[in-house]
Amino acid sequence: AKEQTGNKYQVYSPEIEDRSLESIQLENDLYKALDQNEFVLYFQPKVDTASNTVTGAEALVRWKHPKLGLLAPKDFIPLAEETGLILSIGEWVLQQACQQTKTWHDQGYSSLGVSVNLSPQQFNQDQLICRIKGILEETGLPSHSLELELTENLIIHNTEKTLTTIHQLKKLGIKISIDDFGTGYSSLGYLKDFPVDTLKIDKSFIDDITTNPNNAAITNTIITLAKSLQLQVIAEGVETKDQLDFLIEHGCTLIQGYYFSQPLEEAHFLKQPLRVINN
Ligand code: C2E
Ligand code: CA
Ligand code: CA
Ligand code: CA
Repeated sequence: AKEQTGNKYQVYSPEIEDRSLESIQLENDLYKALDQNEFVLYFQPKVDTASNTVTGAEALVRWKHPKLGLLAPKDFIPLAEETGLILSIGEWVLQQACQQTKTWHDQGYSSLGVSVNLSPQQFNQDQLICRIKGILEETGLPSHSLELELTENLIIHNTEKTLTTIHQLKKLGIKISIDDFGTGYSSLGYLKDFPVDTLKIDKSFIDDITTNPNNAAITNTIITLAKSLQLQVIAEGVETKDQLDFLIEHGCTLIQGYYFSQPLEEAHFLKQPLRVINN
């Protein structure tokens, strides 16, 4: 099979053909995945090392594919974004995350919060505020227990509309966190205009924090910046005791990472050894 692309002929390659067939199949499967209930949410604890308690969780989506097994977001979120399916998947994630957290509240763990990642498309949809309001009402989760994780790049593009949306979210009582902070190619100026609550230091800085003086310096700067702007700061991707000690010593006491726990299915979340406040 030869394919004409402009004036050039592409040489037949079974490998390329296989791959595109695979992705077409995956796309077909993705369309059916919501109806067939194949998505699952995992919850990764956020730990406050000052009190040694779990303050909440980040909700992370997985796809239990009938043939391919458990797929990570990197295997299907890009496809979901391309096809627009991210809107319905994202809404499912929000709904599930709020519902599960409300269930924990009802079991006595009412201080637990939940963070949900929003893709740019999801954030920019006109119905966002209305949808989130609906989910909060439907599930009964207090708005202050919900935090949305937005990336820096999302925030600095289309700043006018973004600012309006963030103000509307804040008015509802929802918290805003800047995910992967420090990895965007943006100036810090936007921080004074955007009413955000939390800076999340990206894993790429944490990875070699104890051996790479530049990353140590960047991390310290983010921690100092957060404190002076009276924002919360949390580190993601913390895997070792050395990383943990460094962060605590430099004033970052909120920690997320494999050192404490991998993302867990709902049934395992309350069973983790760390204390979860029950009040
Ligand atoms: P992220 O928001 O930066 O999420 C953190 C990722 O780092 C998660 O990967 C988590 O499992 C992983 N992680 C946490 N601690 C450690 C650690 O100590 N070591 C290592 N090696 N990894 C750690 P995951 O679940 O594969 O998610 C990857 C990305 O997919 C997320 O990055 C987020 O951007 C996106 N994503 C996940 N769930 C959703 C969702 O529901 N909606 C949208 N739009 N994006 C999502
Ligand atoms: Ca995140
Ligand atoms: Ca992140
Ligand atoms: Ca990250």
